[in-house]
This record gives sequence, C-alpha cells and structure tokens, in this order.
Amino acid sequence: MASLQQSLKQYFGYDSFRDGQEEIINQALLDRDLLIIMPTGGGKSLCFQLPALLKKGVAIIVSPLISLMQDQVTALQDNGINATFLNSTLDFKELRRREEDILNGKVKLLYLAPERLVSERFQEFLHTLISTVTISFFAIDEAHCISEWGHDFRQEYRQLRQLRFRFPSIPLMALTATATTRVQKDIISQLNLKNPGIHRFSFNRTNLYYEVQPRQKRTYQQIFNLIRRLDGSGIVYCFARKTTEDLASRLSQDGISALPYHGGLSDELRSKYQNSFIRDDVRVMVATLAFGMGINKPDVRFVIHYDLPRNIESYYQESGRAGRDGDHAKCILLYNPNDEYKIHYFIKQKENIQEQKIAYQQLEKVLEYAETNYCRRIVQLSYFGERFRGDCDGCDNCLNPKAVEDWTIEAQKFLSCVARVQEKFGIKHIIDILRESKSDKIYKYGHHLLSTYGIGKDKTAKEWEYLGKSLIYQGLLNQTNDSYKILKLNKESWEILRLKRQVKIAVANPTQTKIIEEYNPKALEIEILLQRLKKVRKKLADQENVAPYVIFGDSTLKIMAQMQPQTLKSLGKLSGVTEYKLNKYGYYFYEEIIYFLSEKTLPVALPNHTQIKTLQLYQQGLTITEIAQKRGLTVTTIITHLSELMELNQPIDIDKFVLPKKRETIINLLKKIGDQSPKIIREKLGDNYSYDEIKLVKAWHKRS
Ligand code: ADP
Ligand code: ZN
Repeated sequence: MASLQQSLKQYFGYDSFRDGQEEIINQALLDRDLLIIMPTGGGKSLCFQLPALLKKGVAIIVSPLISLMQDQVTALQDNGINATFLNSTLDFKELRRREEDILNGKVKLLYLAPERLVSERFQEFLHTLISTVTISFFAIDEAHCISEWGHDFRQEYRQLRQLRFRFPSIPLMALTATATTRVQKDIISQLNLKNPGIHRFSFNRTNLYYEVQPRQKRTYQQIFNLIRRLDGSGIVYCFARKTTEDLASRLSQDGISALPYHGGLSDELRSKYQNSFIRDDVRVMVATLAFGMGINKPDVRFVIHYDLPRNIESYYQESGRAGRDGDHAKCILLYNPNDEYKIHYFIKQKENIQEQKIAYQQLEKVLEYAETNYCRRIVQLSYFGERFRGDCDGCDNCLNPKAVEDWTIEAQKFLSCVARVQEKFGIKHIIDILRESKSDKIYKYGHHLLSTYGIGKDKTAKEWEYLGKSLIYQGLLNQTNDSYKILKLNKESWEILRLKRQVKIAVANPTQTKIIEEYNPKALEIEILLQRLKKVRKKLADQENVAPYVIFGDSTLKIMAQMQPQTLKSLGKLSGVTEYKLNKYGYYFYEEIIYFLSEKTLPVALPNHTQIKTLQLYQQGLTITEIAQKRGLTVTTIITHLSELMELNQPIDIDKFVLPKKRETIINLLKKIGDQSPKIIREKLGDNYSYDEIKLVKAWHKRS
C-alpha cells in the first residue's frame, strides 16, 4: 500500500504534510470523530480530502455557500479527482445524472448544502447510498455556523444535529477557523461528537506581514503609492460606498486596474466584478466589508484597511483574506487617532448599555493594536487567548524596533497625579494638571492647589498622552470601559509608586534601518522568469475558463522559477505538481523555461556597480527620492540610473513613475518626431510633463 506521503504527492502534488495534518488524517482513517480548529489558509481541506480518497465509499462534505462548493469541486476536478456537488443551481436532468454517478461509485467527494442533506426527500437516496457504495464520513466545513455564539450562525446548520441520530455509525469531522472556545464547545455538543480528536492550532498566520501607517491627509496619494509598490492582487476595505467608487475610479485612471464592490451594486455587477478579480483581469477590489465572505481567491497578496476595524476579530478575519495559499502577503491598516471619536459616536447610538460596554472594550483593543510599539501579534493573538512572545519578524514594529527608555520617574509623576484626584478623572485632565493648565475645570475642582500641579511642564502634552496610553496598554494602569475613560490605579500602578517596578517605554528610533540585501543577479533572473510563467498561467486559465490559481498556485510557480527544471520529469517532481497536472499543463511551462534559458545565453550587456545599487533599492520598493537620500546622490542621477537600467532590459516598471496616459502621449510624439532631446520634446508637450518623465519614457521606448 502506498504511504500517506506518496498519496499526498499523487493527488495534491505536495512533498510533505503541514503541522498536524498527518495526525488528523490518520485519526480520520481510524473512523474517529474529529474537531479541527485551524486558521484560514492552514490547510483544512486536505484533512478531509485525502481521507476521502483513501477510504472506502463516498465522503459527504457540508459547505454553507454554493460558490465555495463550486470552487472546491472545480479545483479537485482540475486535479483529476472525482468530486461533485448537488445544489439548487442544477436542473433536474443534471441532478439525476450526478446521482447516478454517485450510486455507481464514481464519486469520492460529494459536496452538499446542509438543507439538502437533512431534507426528507433526500433520505431515501442516502440510505440507498449507504447500502451500496457506503458513506465514509461526514465533514462539516465552517462548522461554527452551527453555533449561535459564532459570528456566522445559520439556521440550516442547526439541523445538522440530526446526523448523529440518523447515522450513528458514520464518523463526523467538524472544521472551523473560529477562535472562541465557547463556539468550539458548542460545536461538539450540537453535533454530538463522540470522544472527538480535538486539533487546535495557533491562530498566528506566519505568512502575513502586519503594518499600521498613520492615515495621511492626502489619503488617495498614500494608497496609490502603497499599491504601486506592492505585487499581485489586493483588496482595499472602506467603510463608505462612495469611497469605494471614488477610489476605484481614481486608481483606474492612474493605471492600476480596480473595481468597486458594495451592497448598492446590482447582483449582476457584483458577481461580474468578483469574477474579474478572481480571474486576475482586475488587480484591486475597493470594497465595503460585504466583500470577501463567499469568495475563494487564495492568492490575494495585500489587504489595506482605509478605516478602523470594529474589533480585533473582524480585523483578523478581513485582513486574513490575504495569503490563504500560504505565500507571503501584507496587511496594512491606515490609522488616524481621530477615528476613535467617530466610533464613539456610533457606540453612543446603541440603546443597550451592555452592548455599549462591549463595543467600548473592543474599540480599546483595536486602538491598542494600532498604537502599540511592540509586536502587533502580541495584541492580536492575546485577543484569542494565546500568549505570543513577540519578535515575530513579520510586523512593522519587529522589523523596525523602537528604542526602549526608562520612564519610571515620569510614570510616578503621572500616577501620583491620578491618586491625588481620587481616581475620578481621565487622561486629558491629568495632563492639564501636570502641565499647569489654567482652564476653568482645573480651578473649579481646586486642582491648581495640588502638589502635582505643573510638575510636568518639561514634557509636551503629546508625550504625556503617549506615556498614559503606554501604561494602559502594558496593564500598569486601568481605564473604565465607558466613554468617560476614568483612570484607576491597579496593583502594578502602586508598585511603580512604591519604586518596586520600573517603566520602560518604546520610543521612535530613526537610526534603525533595515539590512540591505546583497545584489543577487540570480534573484533578478528568477523574478523575470516568474513574471513570464504567470503570463503562461493566465493564458491557460483563460482558455480553460478557470481562475489562474486553479492551474498552479503562486508558490508552485515560484519554485519553478527558482529550480528551472529542464526536463518534464524534473518539473513533475516540484511541490504542487501532480502527475495529472504535469500531463495537462506541464509542457507549456517547461517550454517557457527552455525559451527563457536559451535567450539568457545570448550575450547581453550587464548593468554596472552603481546602477545595480540603485536597482537593489528600487526593488525594495523605495521611491526615487528615497533612493537618492539613501545613496547620497541627486534625484537626477537616480533617474539616469533607472533610464540606463531600462535600456539594459532590467525589470523596471515604468508605470511606477509615469502615468500610462502621459507615457502614451510621449511615445506617440517620439514616433512622430524621432529621437529628439528632452528639451525639444518638452517644448512640444508643455509644463505638465517633467524632464524626468520624458527621460524615463525615452529610455523605456528604446529598450530592446
Ligand atoms: P483552509 O481551508 O484552512 O483555509 P486550505 O485547505 O484552502 O486552507 O489550504 C490553504 C493552502 O495551503 C492551499 O493553497 C493548499 O493547497 C495549501 N496546502 C495545504 N496543505 C498543504 C501541504 N501539505 N503542502 C503544501 N501546501 C499545502
Ligand atoms: Zn511582530
């Protein structure tokens, strides 16, 4: 018998299991009930797909959304695996045809909506199925939908409770990415799982990079610059419908293909836009939060939040739509401290006091996430009850750590002031006392008479506020959960006041810079080949009318570009390539690699040392001005380097510097008047065109 490893390669093309998968599959093969809690992108599907293929009979997979069902079935069929679904989109004839296939044992995985599985009409079919081909197990995907405590309760899921009573001997497997223990317990009791194997994994999504940026006044420019430097598909989430429309249209005008998505669009447009995104016909979706639930696009490479999220869990889920294929992806939150007051306004509209209280608590956590100077994962994962040690190497704070300073004395001043006012005031009032404010409120309470009045004039109000918030985030001071936010001393605060505890505060450290990677011609070559393989993939996908990721995932293409296999056989050995896919698509990729390698052996001019240095920095995503600063050279020199690099056919993206419309105009003129000096060209085009733009486009036009 083939080992599990061999089956993994045969059906899915992977060389090894991810953490936990093998143990789960072994338990499934032993007919054990299972509860699997794994974050998005962790690899849950494999946990039921592989056992389904290895066990006798057909496995029934329950899935809440028709679109998800169809996606999974397409992907499996494209791997040569016999999977199918029955749902309301099929006509009677097609349903009958599929049912026959199933009863003839031609299907290993059957996807169903919960309501069909439990419907009376369907029971006869199920019993025939059990007495002929047999059912290997039921897998309940998105199992949290069964719980009212979850964020996505569905009435239809509740009916799945019947499964255990109707089919007591068929094993049940429940899968979810939900984090709360309450929901997990609920799943076990609702489904009546018998001594289930429980597999709970960390919610840390190690392939995601988290960053918070202050939202600038010129927000559009900020987002445009961000996306320009990022690769691949992405989502920008906004609160307001109008913002999605405006942003999408401006991005498109500026050469980044983008579409809006919100509840106000017709169903038809929404599904059309969604499809363009999945097929990589459009790069960016600018969407309200309605977008993303039912879509399966595993190769989203970035998610940008324009507005403050409601709570940590929703931020985790929304940003988590990036990188589901396990490859690197970025999650960027744009943050303006004033957002807090907008949200206060909304919270105050809530009638229920208890709900208000919860909303304030959740807001507090989101602010902590946005404002922390420590690893962002500590805040995020603590929300899910996980202790994370920090130093994740995948968030802005860990990559650009701030220096730590001892602020114990300042903390003592601050806290003793809190004590002097009998713990009855908020942060702003404390700062007013420390900084000797002459406001009416101070005099009204007689706080100008306190011994702490004016002892903090040496620090700005901003610095005091920063200290106050840091104390709260570090748990060294409490704050009430209502809108008054009154400061209360806790055990730790008293330890500081009694000199039993020090206070360390992270402060900005501008001297810290990232380590610059050595220039690596090989990396450049891999990148060029990767872009070419992506084009091959897109062409095949369009021919087959499927999404590009269905052909091969991003990580498989990357490995191809790195390994550059020169025989079909060696291509077939790469992770993600099954024999079935090798036969179906292998040749096209193999051919492209061979072309690429033969072109490379032609003599080409190589860039010189200083050009290479500029190229490196460009590839790290720096702007022209930043490169000039870093290298101590003028902007003009850097433009010259970039122009020369383009003429040498190096991968410089002209769109990052010149708008496509302008580029076209310049090229049309060049075609008309020939290769004239930038000065002459500018005279013809006018002041709207800079010398730099003209120089860059000229070089781009010249490249061979
Ligand atoms: P989930 O359902 O938990 O969100 P998926 O089952 O969609 O995650 O898996 C996420 C990605 O990881 C998919 O692209 C899948 O093909 C890939 N994957 C799963 N298991 C492995 C493995 N053992 N080796 C490599 N890739 C894997
Ligand atoms: Zn970190």
